[in-house]
Amino acid sequence: MSSPKSPFHPFERPIHSATRMLGHVYLIGAGPGDPQLITLRGVQCLKKADVVLYDGLVNPQLLVHAADAELVCVGKHGQQRIWTQDEIQEEMLRMARQGRIVARLKGGDPAVFARGAEETAALSEAGISFEVVPGITAALAAGSFTGIPITHRHHASAVALVTGHQKDNDATDLDWNALAKFPGTLVIYMGVTTAQTWTQALIDGGKPADTPAAIVRRCTWSDQQVFRCTLGEIALRLSPASKIRPPAIVIVGPVADLPEQLDWFDHRPLSGQRILVTRPDGQAGELGDALRELGADPLYQPAIEIVPPPDWSDVDATISQLGEVDWIVFSSRNGVQFYLDRILRLGHDMRLLGGGQIAAVGDRTAEALQGYGLRADLVPADFEAESLAASLSPQAAGKQVLSVRASRGRDVLRQHLADAGASVREVVAYQNRDVIDADAKIRQQMADGQIDWTTVTSSAIARSLVQMFGESLHQTKLASLSPVTSQTLKGLGFSVACEAEHYTIDGLVKAIAQV
Ligand code: SAH
Repeated sequence: MSSPKSPFHPFERPIHSATRMLGHVYLIGAGPGDPQLITLRGVQCLKKADVVLYDGLVNPQLLVHAADAELVCVGKHGQQRIWTQDEIQEEMLRMARQGRIVARLKGGDPAVFARGAEETAALSEAGISFEVVPGITAALAAGSFTGIPITHRHHASAVALVTGHQKDNDATDLDWNALAKFPGTLVIYMGVTTAQTWTQALIDGGKPADTPAAIVRRCTWSDQQVFRCTLGEIALRLSPASKIRPPAIVIVGPVADLPEQLDWFDHRPLSGQRILVTRPDGQAGELGDALRELGADPLYQPAIEIVPPPDWSDVDATISQLGEVDWIVFSSRNGVQFYLDRILRLGHDMRLLGGGQIAAVGDRTAEALQGYGLRADLVPADFEAESLAASLSPQAAGKQVLSVRASRGRDVLRQHLADAGASVREVVAYQNRDVIDADAKIRQQMADGQIDWTTVTSSAIARSLVQMFGESLHQTKLASLSPVTSQTLKGLGFSVACEAEHYTIDGLVKAIAQV
């Protein structure tokens, strides 16, 4: 390992030195794939990082924890350019020598078949301080996510983690005869292309060909696959014709034969369902998380985007006249956020709203108000404008009502309140625009019928989706948030596969799970 002298660094400096001139490296285990299976410490270190060097096996979703860091994929395992181990180490040292905090993010655990020892040796030799944050290694994750306990009181009191990939690509370095006699579970990493060799070596060493086995591909990812077979069948199952590509891990031993009911992963209400979340950026997470909780694989393609109005003059005019308003009506969270932020931006505070009453369409809108220390005086039971208009109408005559709304939306509220004798002023606090182009991969998946469900949470989203995907939208089942949205979809010639009973995110998720 070459260690060019750095202008900053006297080599004799002890490692773990308190000074940060040399930067610091965290070797972090990212876990097996599911972005929630990283440790709290791992996340904390990612947050501190100036730069992240991450492997191809790492779920890119983890990079949200390092939002301000430079991100470098060192692309092992497929993808773009494959860096050599030396190059990775050189880069890691170079960056640390610039005084940066480097997160070296590796799949699974950094010390299990991950060349972690070479990386820490290089750091130690260069006098760069480091910390190793463990991760959940694939063997343990594969066991948990397939209901195969890798140890078992009656079936296996030991586990061996074994590589099927030897230095010279022949399996003879390892003592397979000894492994054949190993009294416990064998878990084979990197054994896809070499399956013929190592399974034969085990059988030749005396391990019965009918020993139960499970091949687990992409464990903990939403497209995890499990193939149960015997030791003797593994090579055929992993032959090139079967197209089971890495990463896959193989569990060999009696534990692989325990009842499949223990497999919880494939038995969740939405297991294996690919569901498109179409809400605007920044507002999609809640729905995505709720779907994932039930086992679905959420994909994100915003159908609309929320942006400020082209100019603020109308909004500002209403703000200067808030003292005359009897009721201010907010129809959405966005309305609350854009309007109230503008009040603050202009140097005022919420006391401007003190003279009037406040109505909100929907619990979420009311919640958003609470975020600004405001309690809505009226939140109709039904989360629709009609319901609010009906509640407000009896007391609306002669009142000044300000309705804070999006650039487009329905006119129901103004009409009803005007009919009830109110003087209604509407103000556009944000624009609601169609996103024109879908991500190319999602467009393809839609056309190929690979998206099981598409969530439609407003009429604007419905119209934008039809523009975006055209006829391909018939290839997916449509889940609608409310009767109004369903009507829009039907009007556009699309059938609705389910509709939320309560017009909330939870209601929508429940409706999909019940189909
Ligand atoms: N450090 C990693 C292992 C890296 S070696 C860890 O601790 O898990 C790469 C091998 O790990 C792959 O060839 C495969 O055998 C296994 N592996 C990693 N992630 C996996 C996953 N999600 N599903 C199945 N096998 C996985």
